[in-house]
Amino acid sequence: MKLTIENTAELTGFAKLGISGQLLKATVTAGFDVPKTIQEQAIPPFLAGRDVLGVAQTGSGKTAAFSLPILTKIVALGTRRLPKTARALILAPTRELAVQIEETIRVLAKGLHISTALVLGGVSRSSQVRKIAPGVDVLVATPGRLTDLVREGDITLAETRWLVLDEADRMLDMGFINDVRRIAKAVHRDKQTALFSATMPEEIEQLARGIMKDPVHVEVAKQGTTAAEITQGVVMARLKQKRKVLSDMLADAAMSSVIVFARTKHGADRVVRDLERDGFNAAVIHGNKSQNARQKALNGFRDGSVRILVAIDIAARGIDVPGISHVVNFDLPDEAESYVHRIGRTGRNGADGIAITLCDPAEGAKLRQVERIIRMKLPITADHTGQPDPQRNPAEAKERAAEEARDRAGDRRDRGPGGIRKPAQGFGHKQHAGKPEGGRPHNGKPGGGKPFRGKRRGFGGGGKPARAA
Ligand code: AMP
Repeated sequence: MKLTIENTAELTGFAKLGISGQLLKATVTAGFDVPKTIQEQAIPPFLAGRDVLGVAQTGSGKTAAFSLPILTKIVALGTRRLPKTARALILAPTRELAVQIEETIRVLAKGLHISTALVLGGVSRSSQVRKIAPGVDVLVATPGRLTDLVREGDITLAETRWLVLDEADRMLDMGFINDVRRIAKAVHRDKQTALFSATMPEEIEQLARGIMKDPVHVEVAKQGTTAAEITQGVVMARLKQKRKVLSDMLADAAMSSVIVFARTKHGADRVVRDLERDGFNAAVIHGNKSQNARQKALNGFRDGSVRILVAIDIAARGIDVPGISHVVNFDLPDEAESYVHRIGRTGRNGADGIAITLCDPAEGAKLRQVERIIRMKLPITADHTGQPDPQRNPAEAKERAAEEARDRAGDRRDRGPGGIRKPAQGFGHKQHAGKPEGGRPHNGKPGGGKPFRGKRRGFGGGGKPARAA
């Protein structure tokens, strides 16, 4: 086909990364409209045959980052399954993760005649042995049971050309590292390897050096784990109540340096206007402001002359101000992962920090998504919603819908033609995908919230400890 400007322009999203045909359709069906950072960074080199060493966590989109290129390669080579072999092997530390990975692969591989299998400890091995007897395209396994099956001759890894080690640091924590080494030695010599780990302790680097060939390093902001120093809670409040709840909260002098996140630029402007009206010293930072205005706001926040900075998500990754005491989510982010970036502004470098999320009952689904990503249940520390349900209060529901629509329309106007966002002024260079966020390494444990301590005026008081889900 002759490439014209028109049809090259159509190459967006995953197509631009080299994914095509049925797999490209599968990304659309799965709702993966825009590739995530890890996918942008890992898919092209992996498709090109390079090993990939990634610092990334569950929640970053890494399953599709390794699955899409592997499936592309398997499809390109056609059916060549040999008995008791696996063409690709994905090792995961836990059963839950292995099950989740296999599910994702099945969704992406729908209609491609790709066979997948799971090998896990703690469940019957005979059905697993039966499933792999004719050979499979993609095997997802935990290291212990796989080692047993290899030892007993139920599977050979000699034909395995793609190897993925997922959550390698957790495999280390769980004592699987020797099994992993043995498995990596047993696969085909000309294997292509991807290794993902939330942190890179020396043992993992050693393992990578031992089994990988000149890997491409990819790294994305830490996802899915919240810094252990951050105390998190939810205050239930209807949209109309949120402004007052926020102002009441800010009466507490302990909230000395606060960043408030709003979902939209116009929403952020409104929050600042209301705070100023209530006598607070606040500044706003988002893409509609000039570089000068933003810098002024940020400098003021940094030197303490501005106590409250109101921002939208694009600012979350760029702001590194030490000593932020509180992060307030005025509303839940559209992308659950943004929550982690937002709250990561506080509790940095070992300091204590508090993150409070104001949640309208209508935002319940978004809250649950956040809880899934951070793998813990957030405690409700106060509830101001002693009013009728907006579903049964058409006037309130209508007013909220109109307010939301106004914000969305305002933000749409801020985009260029075709919905392309105008270039952000000034944050782009700081939105590095490069460094893990948060102050401390992932410790392999879910959760990590701490109980609220002491009395916090305006916080609704008496919070229960955040608990792991
Ligand atoms: P993972 O880190 O692979 O566990 O992915 C985390 C979540 O992100 C999963 O629920 C995926 O379905 C979802 N996801 C992965 N890639 C994308 C994408 N490009 N767009 C939207 N969601 C995605």
